[in-house]
Amino acid sequence: MYKRILLKLSGEALKGETSYGIDPKTVNEIAEQIKDAKQLGVEIGIVVGGGNIWRGKTAEGLGMDRAQADYMGMLATIMNGLAVQDALEQHGVPTRVMTAIDCDKVAEPYIRRRAIRHLEKGRVVIFVGGLGSPYFSTDTACVLRATEIEAEVVLMAKNHTEGVYDSDPRKNPDAKLFTEITFSEILEKNLQVMDSTAASLCKDNKKPLIVFNMNKRGNIVKAVQGDKIGTLVKV
Ligand code: UDP
Repeated sequence: MYKRILLKLSGEALKGETSYGIDPKTVNEIAEQIKDAKQLGVEIGIVVGGGNIWRGKTAEGLGMDRAQADYMGMLATIMNGLAVQDALEQHGVPTRVMTAIDCDKVAEPYIRRRAIRHLEKGRVVIFVGGLGSPYFSTDTACVLRATEIEAEVVLMAKNHTEGVYDSDPRKNPDAKLFTEITFSEILEKNLQVMDSTAASLCKDNKKPLIVFNMNKRGNIVKAVQGDKIGTLVKV
C-alpha cells in the first residue's frame, strides 16, 4: 500500500452527467471514495482541474487572449477545489485548500513545507490554481506537486474510461487498453493521457502514474492499496 499519493481530479470528473459546472451529487460520491481511501491511513493530496468550467485554450480558439483566458481557468480550479473541500468536510474528512494564486479569503497560499505538514497531520490537501502561470495545465501542476510533496505515485482518475488505450475508446470500439506502458511510449505515440509537458515531467522525475476509471466505486481504494487496476505508466 502507498503511504502518500497525489490524486488528479479533472474538472470533467466533477460535472457528472451534466454538461457544465459542478454536480454536487457526483462530488459527494467522489468524497465518499476519498474518505474510504483515507481510512486506510494513506496521506492524500489532490490536484483539481477546471475544464468543467473553463479552458484557456478553447477560449483562445474563440478569440480571447490566451494568458487572460488561462488565468480564468486557474480561477475555475479554485471553485472546484472549494466544492471538493465542502464535500470532504461533510464526510468528516479534515482538509486544507492550498492555492498557487493568492486568494486568501478562501484558501491558504501554497507553501511546500506547510503542505507536507498538513499531510502528516492527516489532512487531505487540495491543491488549486494549477501552477499559477498561464500556458500550463493542471496535469503538469499535479506532477510537480506530486514530486514536491514526495508522493509515491500519481493517481489519475478518469471518467468512464479504464486507463490508457492505443486509440480513443469513445470513437474506436476496438481500442486496446494497455495494462502497462512507459512515458516514452506515450510521448512517441502521442497518446492523449496527459499533455507532453506533464508526461516529460513524470518521466524526468521518475514518478509513476496509474490511470483508472473513477466511476467504478471502490477503484480509488484499490489504486491506493496497490491493486492492479487501469494502466500503470512506468518510467
Ligand atoms: N491553467 C493554467 N495554468 C495552470 C493550470 C491550469 O493556465 O497551471 C488553466 C488553463 O487555461 C486550463 C484551465 O486552467 O485550461 C483548467 O485546467 P485544466 O484544463 O488542466 O483542467 P482539467 O482538464 O484537468 O479539468
